[in-house]
Amino acid sequence: MEIKSAKFVMSNSEYQKCPPPHRAEFAFIGRSNVGKSSLINSLTFTKGLAKTSQTPGKTQLINHFLINDRWFLVDLPGYGYAKVSKEIRQKFEKMIFDYLLKRENLVCLYILVDIRHKPQPIDVEFMNRMGEAQIPFYVVFTKADKLSNKQIQESVETYQQILGETWEELPEMFITSAEKHLGREEILQSIEDLIKS
Ligand code: GDP
Repeated sequence: MEIKSAKFVMSNSEYQKCPPPHRAEFAFIGRSNVGKSSLINSLTFTKGLAKTSQTPGKTQLINHFLINDRWFLVDLPGYGYAKVSKEIRQKFEKMIFDYLLKRENLVCLYILVDIRHKPQPIDVEFMNRMGEAQIPFYVVFTKADKLSNKQIQESVETYQQILGETWEELPEMFITSAEKHLGREEILQSIEDLIKS
């Protein structure tokens, strides 16, 4: 898919206030610092569209972008901040889950995990929760430029093994590097395919 335009639409904290659900929507989520902003910027080739930041937890809102005047890309807040209070964490959780469970035009969720880390319980639990709620999702490995091909394969296999303990059908997985624009075409193609299907 060629990106002809990428426009910021709005940020808000309630799914009810999101833009009218007239277009197919694709959301991106992951723990803070996973490389979500970098990946979104790589996908859209728009530097600074999603702000990259070193400060964990900075994107704390649901951010809508309109791509090619055709579909919405949604940058969701990261989950699992260690540094915020339980109350704030619960508030974010509610915002994210309300959005995920109730947003009618959400087609697919892309869950980002850092390819260098072993499967973290918080990520696996989140994927299991999505599976239980029947929310279609893909797994996106980030920062692949930091590992060798062999290490990449090992990381992917470990994830497949862990998810395979719970699920018969495994989600599709993408290997990406925002730095090298690796996996960009594949993710955009998956969106194109889902829009057309
Ligand atoms: P976010 O908090 O998930 O939005 O993460 P950011 O996109 O702000 O990235 C967090 C850190 O990881 C930054 O220091 C980025 O430069 C770095 N980073 C993000 N993507 C990549 C990547 O593909 N390769 C490498 N080597 N570093 C990355």
